[in-house]
Amino acid sequence: MTRLKDALDHIAEAVIKQRDLLDRLDSIGDSDHGTNMARGFTAAMEELERLNDLSSTKVVFETVGTAFAESIGGASGPLYATAFLRAAAACDENTTFNVENVEKLLNAAVEGVKRRGHSDAGEKTMLDVLIPVHKCFTPEEAKDKTLYQCIEAAVKAAKDGLDYTKTIPAKKGRASYIGERSIGHEDPGAMSSLIMVRELFNFLKY
Ligand code: ADP
Ligand code: MG
Ligand code: MG
Repeated sequence: MTRLKDALDHIAEAVIKQRDLLDRLDSIGDSDHGTNMARGFTAAMEELERLNDLSSTKVVFETVGTAFAESIGGASGPLYATAFLRAAAACDENTTFNVENVEKLLNAAVEGVKRRGHSDAGEKTMLDVLIPVHKCFTPEEAKDKTLYQCIEAAVKAAKDGLDYTKTIPAKKGRASYIGERSIGHEDPGAMSSLIMVRELFNFLKY
């Protein structure tokens, strides 16, 4: 699946470009989310370069998850690592991307983050983007839609999720230390999740 590697390359480049924005949004925490994500994606792409065989979706996701786990110290490292590793576990060597398979791997990723983070929707985290994104691929929402149309809907859902994080206080992570004063600010992890979904869409569009 070299196309998956190409998509991840595109996403990695876009996230790395937004390092300063993500660090700035993390002023409600400790101002390192962009730095953390840039480190994670740089490590992940280096590991993927080293892989001789990119044919297995499972192995590609495992490689990214392991690189995140090993390279990032902050909360987002283990959480995104869990997301990629759980997505990998929901795939096999031959998994291709259709609505049903993407629903399965996103469900595994979301459930993994919830469990690892002891967190859920409405706490001003990446989950406020990832949960609505997953919903776009469920049978009710995806009815009569192509995969591409689902991804397009997911970008909209991700933007709405990010906007929502602005209206609520942080209940998890470092931003929870400032509680109510975090209202009015977008969550940096919600923004990095939005960037990933948006750039997947942009990659497929062009
Ligand atoms: P740290 O907070 O350790 O410096 P980062 O700044 O890289 O790590 O990541 C912060 C982001 O991680 C937050 O914006 C939020 O989206 C996400 N996050 C933090 N704690 C949790 C949690 N328990 N569950 C889900 N997401 C979380
Ligand atoms: Mg931080
Ligand atoms: Mg930190």
